[in-house]
Amino acid sequence: MYDAIIIGAGHNGLVCAAYLAKAGRKVLVLEANDRVGGAAITRSFGTGFKVSAGAHLINLLDPVVIDELKLESHGLDLGQKTLKTVSLSHKGQHLVIDGDQLTGQVSDEDRSAFADYKAQMTRFSRLLNKLHLRPPPRLKPGRLSDYLDLLRVGAGLRRLGQRDMRDFLRIAGINIYDVLEEHFDNELLKGALAFDAVLGNHLGPRSNGSVLNALHRSSGRINDDNGTFASPPGGVGAVSEALAKAAVALGAKIRTGAPVEQLMFNGDTACGVRLQSGEQIEAETVVSNADPKRTFLDLVGARHLEAEFAQSIHRTRCSGNVAKLHLGLKSLPRFTELDPTLAGERLLIAPSADYLDLAFNQAKYGHCSDHPAMEITIPSVADPSLADEGHHVLSAIVQYAPYRLKGGWEHAHEPFKKTLIDQLDQYAPGLSLQVISSELLTPADIEAEFGITGGHWHHGEMTLDQAFMLRPAPGAGRYATPIDGLYLCGAGSHPGGGVMGLAGRNAAQTVLSGGKT
Ligand SMILES: Cc1cc2nc3c(=O)[nH]c(=O)nc-3n(C[C@H](O)[C@H](O)[C@H](O)COP(=O)(O)OP(=O)(O)OC[C@H]3O[C@@H](n4cnc5c(N)ncnc54)[C@H](O)[C@@H]3O)c2cc1C
Repeated sequence: MYDAIIIGAGHNGLVCAAYLAKAGRKVLVLEANDRVGGAAITRSFGTGFKVSAGAHLINLLDPVVIDELKLESHGLDLGQKTLKTVSLSHKGQHLVIDGDQLTGQVSDEDRSAFADYKAQMTRFSRLLNKLHLRPPPRLKPGRLSDYLDLLRVGAGLRRLGQRDMRDFLRIAGINIYDVLEEHFDNELLKGALAFDAVLGNHLGPRSNGSVLNALHRSSGRINDDNGTFASPPGGVGAVSEALAKAAVALGAKIRTGAPVEQLMFNGDTACGVRLQSGEQIEAETVVSNADPKRTFLDLVGARHLEAEFAQSIHRTRCSGNVAKLHLGLKSLPRFTELDPTLAGERLLIAPSADYLDLAFNQAKYGHCSDHPAMEITIPSVADPSLADEGHHVLSAIVQYAPYRLKGGWEHAHEPFKKTLIDQLDQYAPGLSLQVISSELLTPADIEAEFGITGGHWHHGEMTLDQAFMLRPAPGAGRYATPIDGLYLCGAGSHPGGGVMGLAGRNAAQTVLSGGKT
């Protein structure tokens, strides 16, 4: 009999387990896969190559989690935490973004507008980060603490000052395309900034709500400075391993290769789980790191849910639109006119906001983009252990590749991989001839490998209708659920996806305080 069973050893499940164990709870983590980390793992592909198979950069892991769980003493090493972003031009006129500085063919007006834009977005994302560190406020009337939570949000907005507050309220619900048009002329800059506003979602730069995603992406504080990225030595899996070590050191038990089939109930209260093997394990509390649809529709079952709540979970939008390309290369690719010292930075193919918009148009109608946008990393530049001597690993997140592809992925898989390699060839001529191993993970593959319904990066779209106390759905927006004894702790809950650890931390605090919906 455990105090808490956590379903899933994704990074949020591990964080939740560590906090519960730290508070003296007897905790068991059950993971379906044969390794911990969920979509934050390092694994092999091809012969002699290793890659961060899901998440490949860290920008959101919260310093509060790092400090409170003493992750550095358990081996956490984020490596260089200030990767630059290079917005690639196939003509070789690249733009480099380094904090609030721009290098490349960019006007003085754009340079100065960027410094102002960046400073304002940083102020907004700091506000968001404060909201991320707590369960979202409850809308139900009644408790003094709920009114205080709402007051705190209002006070945070008020502290921005009149101009910022007005701008924040104006842009939060609109689209990034219009915001960028107001500020900049440079197409590469607009492309790079728009890319961050759509990444991981079924959003184009002209979709309303894209500004919210941009703010979410820049709310990370890994370097006390919003918006920087790290490529950890050993890949992102090394972060999950540090989390697992911390959880175990605090007393949690982790079992891999232990898929949960169903929740068990005592009356209407969750009282444990049954594994696919038939084994039954009891616990006072069950916390699910699996995505909301999987949790409620598969593991709980609709018959245990009120019809209205079951409907709202059905309605949750969680069809992924991101693919992942892994290439094992004979040598370091040469991007046209790119200083080779920049090859290990974060490289983007998003040459303009219009380019992204056109790429999204195809995905809207169920097709892969003919000219997709990509976030490319070559982690073997900083960490040669990821490939045999002299070889390199390229990892690219590809936007857009719809989960519900017209005609299905079976026949589209290889042609799309070829499209991507051909596209890379345009930016780094000869790259295709260097490929020794290649692997494409479509959203369907992501669903199969990581157990995420729809293969969605965030376990569900990150838009206003699925954010804060509405995430994943009304009635389950504060980690507690309509089922007594069952809580959520994954990316499908506030504050959403990305390797942050905050959903896991907030969920643990809610469990420890006996929180209700
Ligand atoms: C292709 C891709 C690229 C990404 N790139 C980045 C990036 O560069 N940076 C970034 O910050 N974020 C990135 N993300 C997002 C990030 O990886 C996720 O948002 C994050 O890992 C979610 O963590 P989680 O712990 O909430 O859930 P998950 O990582 O999904 O973990 C859930 C766990 O639950 C387990 N599980 C599910 N069902 C069961 C069951 N029935 N029984 C037992 N176990 C079960 C799963 O196997 C899994 O291990 C990316 C995501 C994808 C898919």
